[in-house]
Amino acid sequence: MLLHDARQQITEACFHLADDGLVVGTAGNLSVREGDLVAITPSGLPYPDMRPDLVAVVDYVTGKQVDGALKPASELDLHLTALRATGQMSVVHTHSYAATAVASLEGVSALPAVHYYICMFGGSNVRVADYAIYGSPELAANVERALEGRTAALMSNHGSVVAGPDLAATYVLAQELEWVCELYLRTRAVGTPKILSDEQIAAVARKIRETGYGQHAPAPED
Ligand code: 13P
Ligand code: ZN
Repeated sequence: MLLHDARQQITEACFHLADDGLVVGTAGNLSVREGDLVAITPSGLPYPDMRPDLVAVVDYVTGKQVDGALKPASELDLHLTALRATGQMSVVHTHSYAATAVASLEGVSALPAVHYYICMFGGSNVRVADYAIYGSPELAANVERALEGRTAALMSNHGSVVAGPDLAATYVLAQELEWVCELYLRTRAVGTPKILSDEQIAAVARKIRETGYGQHAPAPED
C-alpha cells in the first residue's frame, strides 16, 4: 500500500478529531506529504469508519488520485495550496468552535497577538481568509493570500487551516491555534484584550529559534 505510515497516522488522528473539538460530523480534513505524493482524508466519510486503505493518495504536483478506494477531501485544492505555499509537510483543516467564531466576527480581519503563542504561526497575527464556497479554487486562493509569511489562517465563516512539519506536530498546532482563538473570545467577552506588539512577538520567535523549546524523553533506564 502506498504511503502506508502516513495513511496509518491519518487514520489514528481521525479517531480523536471530534472528541478533541476540532470537527463535528464529517467536517475537516487531514493531509500528509511524502515526496511527490500526498495522503489525504476521503471526502464525507464518518470518522469512526476510517481505515488506511480508504485514505486517498494523490500526486503532489497534479493532484491526480493514484490510490485509495474513495474520492479525496473536497478541500484537496486547499491542502495542496497550503502545502506548496508554506513548504510544510502536513495540513490540518478544522471546523473548531473558537477559530470559526473568530473567523465569523464582523470587522475582524486577523486574530491578533493576544498571547505570545501567536508567533508559532509565523507572524504577529493569523489572518482571516475571505469567504468562498467550500471545496472551491477561490477558497484555496483566498487562503493562499492569507498564508503569506504564515503557517496558519482562519477561514471566514468556515474554520481554520494549519500547516506543520508532520501530522503529530500540526495537530497540536491546530489545537494551540484553537486555544488562542478561545482566549481572544474570552477576553473580548469581558473587556478589551491587550495585544502584544510586533517587537514582543519577534522577541519570542527569536528566543525559540536561538534556544529551542521542548524536549524528548530519553529511554527509561532498566
Ligand atoms: P470533506 O468531507 O470533503 O473532507 O469536506 C469537509 C470540509 O471541511 C469542507 O470544507
Ligand atoms: Zn471545511
